[in-house]
Amino acid sequence: MGLFSSAAKSKKIFYKTDEEVELMRAANLIVSKTLGYVATLLKPGVTGKDLDKAAEAYIRDLGGRPAFKGYNGFPASLCISYNDIVVHGIPSDREFQEADIVSIDCGVEWQGYYGDAAFTFAMRGVSSAVMDLLEVTYAALYKGIEQAVVGKRIGDISFAIQHYCEREHPYSVVRELVGHGIGRSLHEEPEMPNYGKRGQGLLLQNGLTLAIEPMVNMGRREVHQHEDGWTIHTRDGKPSAHFEHSIVVRKGQADILSTHEFIHEAIKNNPHLTEVFPKSANFAAQKN
Ligand code: MG
Ligand code: MG
Repeated sequence: MGLFSSAAKSKKIFYKTDEEVELMRAANLIVSKTLGYVATLLKPGVTGKDLDKAAEAYIRDLGGRPAFKGYNGFPASLCISYNDIVVHGIPSDREFQEADIVSIDCGVEWQGYYGDAAFTFAMRGVSSAVMDLLEVTYAALYKGIEQAVVGKRIGDISFAIQHYCEREHPYSVVRELVGHGIGRSLHEEPEMPNYGKRGQGLLLQNGLTLAIEPMVNMGRREVHQHEDGWTIHTRDGKPSAHFEHSIVVRKGQADILSTHEFIHEAIKNNPHLTEVFPKSANFAAQKN
């Protein structure tokens, strides 16, 4: 790819060839199937550790390597973040219960390439107010992806997400944690903040691969890190939602490399879960 002419400015950014994108799509397919599988198991009484153990075996059966396990010492294959936990929750012995919301984040390496996606599940009984937070956060993900096209800038993605959540809705975007480039590593340049200004930041070029992942709080935006060194909670104790896709920047429309289709199929058949769709109907045309 002839995209390294501005190497001084973007030295660490790896634009992917079509072949590399297909390897990433394969890694993301394992991620997506794993999230769908986990969605068949999620019900009251099940623990995060139960899900993590099942997910790790499933990923390895499909020939993948759980990318989170051992990453900077993280002890598990999934991040499981329920209720007021924003992200990076460590799977525990706590049993899920009715009316929980549960963000499950999965990363997989396959043949040297990475996939990363997340979904926040609603257990049966979640209030309509919290369902709205989930639907808005989910829609914000697609608002961001809409901007991930050649000629736009990182700030256009950031602004779209922030404006939708904080101006069109009464929620707060977390500042301390951001999305990221992805591909040959789980986390690559550039950083992909969920807040920012239109027209600013890196110019998006063909083959840039990003994990876009809005983290949105029902109350105030402030977060704090648990003494375990991982778990991020909202400071005010109110719920937080998180949805993520890995995408590749293309002309006209981004190509979404992960899919939530296995999740939606599983939710349909799991009476313990309530389906979550993006709030606006405008996303029907998107692959989700
Ligand atoms: Mg993730
Ligand atoms: Mg990520």
